[in-house]
Amino acid sequence: MPRQDKAPDLRRPVIAGNWKMYKTGAEARAFFEQFQPLVASASHCDIIVAPPFTALRVCVEASRSGKIAIAAQNMHWQPEGAFTGEISARMLIDAGCTAVIIGHSERRQLFGETDESVHRKTKAALAAGLTPIVCVGETLDERESNTTEKVLSRQMQVGLAALTAAEFSRILLAYEPVWAIGTGRTATPELAADAHRHLRALAAAQFGSESASALRILYGGSVKPDNIKGLMAHEEIDGALVGGASLDPKSFAAIVNY
Ligand code: PEP
Repeated sequence: MPRQDKAPDLRRPVIAGNWKMYKTGAEARAFFEQFQPLVASASHCDIIVAPPFTALRVCVEASRSGKIAIAAQNMHWQPEGAFTGEISARMLIDAGCTAVIIGHSERRQLFGETDESVHRKTKAALAAGLTPIVCVGETLDERESNTTEKVLSRQMQVGLAALTAAEFSRILLAYEPVWAIGTGRTATPELAADAHRHLRALAAAQFGSESASALRILYGGSVKPDNIKGLMAHEEIDGALVGGASLDPKSFAAIVNY
């Protein structure tokens, strides 16, 4: 169904860039110098950039216009403590962040994150006043064995079920099929939309139909300037979480200005 059929302003689009473990402070500053003028007239969507921890402050300072929100890529659920190498929501807020990515598939696959840790982190982020960008998605094996919906249901139920409806209304959900991340293999808009529909149905069952229809679901997985338009044309796709293509100011601006 084309996007114009959707109630206007119900779900404002979001384009978010996840820089992963790329860019020093100087490189982040250079990115913003080039990027900001290219998106100066973009008023159709929210823009988020998630740099590594060491570049957070530089990005917060560079985006003082307030047009671009700065997110972290991870956090711990405790406010402080003996947790070497970790960082808390309070610290992210202190650095000027307003959002945080939680449960990215690289965190799940490489660093042992689970649906339970996603749940704890999401609760803590919300309690601190951050917007959690909660990532869900199936692996290639799971898709090929026809368990995509089961996996998404488990990730939603364990990761988010214990939220209140008011808390749920503050999250962004990112559907990121693992087989599409960094592989150049994008899901078709229809395939992504099927998954989004399933996630929205789960949200309706857990939090009611009003919450579900207001939920913004971003697609992530090899989003590029040449496929963003097709993805965003679909009424189920409310935005994109972009990895590789968000590192270059011109390509990320082309995605923002789809
Ligand atoms: C991501 O890291 O969330 C991602 C979607 O990466 P890429 O766009 O490079 O596939």
